[in-house]
Amino acid sequence: MAQHSTFDIQRSEHPRTAEERAAILDNPGFGRYFTDHMVVIDYEEGKGWHNHRVVPYGPFSVDPAYMVLHYGQAIFEGLKAYRHADGEIVTFRPAANAARFQASAERMAMPKLSEEDFIDSIKELVTIDQDWVPQPGGEECLYLRPFMFATETGLGVHPAKKFTYVLIGSPAGAYFAHGVQPVTVWVSHEYVRACPGGTGSAKFAGNYAASLAAQDAADKQGCDQVLWLDAIKRENIEEMGGMNVMFVAQDGDDVTVITPALSGSLLPGITRDSLKTVAQDLGYKLEERVITLTELADRVAKGEITEAFACGTAAVINPIGTFKSRDGEFTVNEGKSGDITLKMRATLTGIQRGERADDHNWLYKLV
Ligand SMILES: *Cc1c(COP(=O)(O)O)cnc(C)c1O
Repeated sequence: MAQHSTFDIQRSEHPRTAEERAAILDNPGFGRYFTDHMVVIDYEEGKGWHNHRVVPYGPFSVDPAYMVLHYGQAIFEGLKAYRHADGEIVTFRPAANAARFQASAERMAMPKLSEEDFIDSIKELVTIDQDWVPQPGGEECLYLRPFMFATETGLGVHPAKKFTYVLIGSPAGAYFAHGVQPVTVWVSHEYVRACPGGTGSAKFAGNYAASLAAQDAADKQGCDQVLWLDAIKRENIEEMGGMNVMFVAQDGDDVTVITPALSGSLLPGITRDSLKTVAQDLGYKLEERVITLTELADRVAKGEITEAFACGTAAVINPIGTFKSRDGEFTVNEGKSGDITLKMRATLTGIQRGERADDHNWLYKLV
């Protein structure tokens, strides 16, 4: 039997009014506003996870010697809560996020939070702040951000013995306010995101810090995002650094979805994993393997690879129009969103929003 901890609940004395909340939900953007509460759980070696609580959202007091500020032990997750037409509020495959949070913790020498605590924390926050989950009918949702960081004080380099787990919620608007928009990517030969034996398969905060200079380089090239290659050969396509990638090859009526195999240095996305199943459900072939930039460019030129897209929780699926690198550029599907891409997107978002059958039991009822 799962051990469920009791959460101490301290309600906010100054929650936003219904009018203030409605104004925010009208145009939430992404990651700009937060709900009235947050969940906090403490960890200390010898004591384990304790002091499970729901408290008003607000700043922490931070000791300057917190180890996270010096040596960076910090991991996170990202998932969404959706309100269905029947009033239920659900989330998508939370056990997969819980398992990945544990895998990230293990890689960063941090303690594992149980799946029960992880999912219970989500239930607690979404229950108390359920009015922050946008109405059904559109792409709006409540984005959930679980994270954990080292709170032991001291400058000695060793795995910390104290940590804090926090869950916050942020209403998110439609990712594509004006229809699904293909992005242009900069293929980075100069920088790498992750390497064999490194931290690339953990949802580790530092992976993002390490990617920002390359993101600046992409901006300078007029590109929206970075596409990362493997660290050794700088040839195998890995991922986007916040989203995984997939390609569509077509031969007559035969459709094959190709995605880079998990190499140890790319992040095992839950959207990626779900879309592998969706592709097969739609009758497409699936290839999970090494795909090089050379193969991609050649097969796009021959008209064999017809669509490319990035996938992750935030945008679900984001088509890729143009690939630019130091060696030149090429465009897929005339820079437009492809039919297979949009069909896969509609299928997955339909399941998440309760508009299509959830044949794989991916939805988890929160409220
Ligand atoms: C979170 C993340 C993804 C996407 O994972 P999902 O579970 O699909 O949201 C892909 N790459 C990186 C580096 C990530 O941090």
